[in-house]
Amino acid sequence: MKYISILGSTGSIGTQTLDIVENNPGELCVRALAAGSNVSLLEQQIRRFQPVIAAVWEEAAAKDLRERVRDLPVKIVSGMDGLIQTVTEEKTQMVVTAIVGMIGIRPTMEAIRVGKDIALANKETLVTAGHLIMPMAKEYGVSILPVDSEHSAIFQSLQGNERGKLRRILLTASGGPFRTRTKDELKNIQVEDALKHPNWVMGRKITIDSATMVNKGLEVIEAKWLFDVTLDQIQVVVHPQSIIHSAVEYVDGAVIAQLGTPDMRLPIQYALFYPSRRTLNSEPLDLFKVGAMTFEAPRPDVFEGLVLAYKAARAGGSMPTVFNAANEKAVAKFLNREIAFLDIVDIIGNAMEDHKVIKNPDLDAILDTENQTYEFIESRW
Ligand code: NDP
Repeated sequence: MKYISILGSTGSIGTQTLDIVENNPGELCVRALAAGSNVSLLEQQIRRFQPVIAAVWEEAAAKDLRERVRDLPVKIVSGMDGLIQTVTEEKTQMVVTAIVGMIGIRPTMEAIRVGKDIALANKETLVTAGHLIMPMAKEYGVSILPVDSEHSAIFQSLQGNERGKLRRILLTASGGPFRTRTKDELKNIQVEDALKHPNWVMGRKITIDSATMVNKGLEVIEAKWLFDVTLDQIQVVVHPQSIIHSAVEYVDGAVIAQLGTPDMRLPIQYALFYPSRRTLNSEPLDLFKVGAMTFEAPRPDVFEGLVLAYKAARAGGSMPTVFNAANEKAVAKFLNREIAFLDIVDIIGNAMEDHKVIKNPDLDAILDTENQTYEFIESRW
């Protein structure tokens, strides 16, 4: 039996993680759950999975939840302190970080500090604090297992090979719903259009990130930290069918990839049970049905978010935090219909231009940079 806690249990990754728990009876025990504000779904999850502790963000929501589950022996907590209590729950062995955004940094660091392995979906954490988190994981002997499908594919392709013989990572991208559009055609994109991803059903923020290709930029930075490679060793390859989830190339030219029908439960399950593989009732890959797989170079003139991600990663220090925080704020504004689709990348570019890089920022400097970026954006848009 493995004891797990889930940050963001009511979201896309969180609910699929709980599907895996259900489909592997007697193998995984849920000790703690955390959500933002979806009290009614969290209540159902508490009744079904019987955690010992559950967290929501606002204390008012926690009060409501306490009332709803007063017949159960579960402790209900709130705020950042609540998230930290969730991830540090004593019996927990692995924390699934399926929360969205930079809010995941502190709980992830606290979980590592008390020796919990991390199944990492929350890429924003590594993008902004990878320089703190990766050495910490090493120091505390903690494994960080990727949940992102591309990073899981890379991780799977690295198994059984000499790590030092890796030449390149081929990071695939579907290209999102606007892959073939011109920049002019992107001017009047509405929220509903951007929320229609061709291959994956995901949370709202990452779906918009996929439409701008900022998501691929975040993934480049995530890959750099997870696999300890340089930016020049990562090539983004647009592959609209999303069958090859990513690949690695070795020094002898051999390219090893992981393929499959798009289903996030596979990478989640692989992280939960690594190095063991379990049966999964997913749609088998039928290569005859796929017919052809195609590959394209990304278009930097249209998808400038990817260019900015490389720029932020090369600048290093606090710049990836600005890239990420500006994106989080801009996506929220777009989803709120306050700005246009193309403004998202404009806002990120402007915030980056305004920022003076802090080298090797500690957690406080990262959180200060996040706040300053938000203030900068609020004062102008
Ligand atoms: P969702 O928006 O579907 O879910 C986010 C989860 O975080 C929800 O459970 C939400 O709770 C919770 N949450 C939000 N704010 C808080 C808070 N302040 N305190 C506690 N919980 C909070 O996101 P996804 O599942 O799509 O994505 C989660 C992460 O995984 C992101 O970093 C994303 O980039 C990454 N990822 C997602 C993939 C996918 O297929 N969805 C693929 C690869 C990576 P509530 O429901 O109450 O708001």
